[in-house]
Amino acid sequence: MSEFLTPYLKKIEPYTPGEQPRDMQYVKLNTNESPYPPSPLVKQAISEEEVDKLRLYSDPELKDLIAILAKYHSISTRSIFCGNGSDEVLAMSFMAWGGRCGVAYPDISYGFYPVYANVFNLDSQVIPLDEAYKLNIADVKLDGKMLVFANPNAPTGLSVSLNEIENVLKNNSDSVVIVDEAYVDFGGVSAVELINKYDNLLVVRTFSKSRQLAGARLGYAIGSEQLIDDLNRVKFSINPYNINRLTCIAGVSSVSDNDYFEMCVDKVINTRAHMTDSLRKLGFDVLESNANFVFAKHSSMSGRDIYSALKEQGILVRHFNKERISDFVRITVGTDEETTVLIDKLKLILGEC
Ligand SMILES: *Cc1c(COP(=O)(O)O)cnc(C)c1O
Repeated sequence: MSEFLTPYLKKIEPYTPGEQPRDMQYVKLNTNESPYPPSPLVKQAISEEEVDKLRLYSDPELKDLIAILAKYHSISTRSIFCGNGSDEVLAMSFMAWGGRCGVAYPDISYGFYPVYANVFNLDSQVIPLDEAYKLNIADVKLDGKMLVFANPNAPTGLSVSLNEIENVLKNNSDSVVIVDEAYVDFGGVSAVELINKYDNLLVVRTFSKSRQLAGARLGYAIGSEQLIDDLNRVKFSINPYNINRLTCIAGVSSVSDNDYFEMCVDKVINTRAHMTDSLRKLGFDVLESNANFVFAKHSSMSGRDIYSALKEQGILVRHFNKERISDFVRITVGTDEETTVLIDKLKLILGEC
């Protein structure tokens, strides 16, 4: 830290991303990436000609990308905003709406929410999950605060019903409500259908989890024209060319290949079912996941020890050193083959303790 740092930034704790090790080949089940490559259409579209065009700025209005996303969601192009990963969409949302009355988010959820609240110096209301790790928001009172939550939630994989979301929107019409749907394609119910009914709703999506493009950095938001205008006001004040040309092309190609998208999502859902079964047979307590990961704990071994033992065996999973969930590990659903390796190693590990 330098002596020049803005004083309040000295106290913030940045987000800790999952490990991306380069030292050896791990079975990588720690950051909820897709185990499958992007659609073949993505590879075809990123041609030498397009690489040459990198000398030119990308389209600040993102017309092609927004057009195909609007079509995909059957919604107006004026209801879509794209960001450099949904992390950027979320950061810009905190900037746009957090400064009015503050922000609210669950105690156990995506680790970036408290980081954004701190880096933008916002008042926070933390909503505790119940004993079963469920988020009960039906009678939350926001008093104008912006609410953000992941649905399905991370790292639990549990969902909130559309009915509950609608109640929050109705009872808190003075608050922006952000539903982070990073994992919705794996079995959640989307709130997109409520967009035209509630002008205080913003749904955030990403290409990182269900569209095989984590490294391309692409996310987007769907909301009323007014909310989208607010986000554009922030974007055009920070980084108008926020999505690079190759990522634009990759995004358009990905959305245009719906068969491939559905095939990959179906495979993950099938693997998740058999992974959940196998873990339960080994004595794990596994939460019912609607996402591309499972959250599991074992009565005979701590989360930290399972994480370490698996790492020694060449498998990376995620452990959160956090109250209430430190017994758990979060395991990304990979391929069937990766799951077989995982289960075999766990048998070995549990046999030894
Ligand atoms: C992975 C994740 C994101 C970030 O996605 P990017 O688009 O890669 O920035 C946002 N929210 C949740 C809940 C996530 O799990």
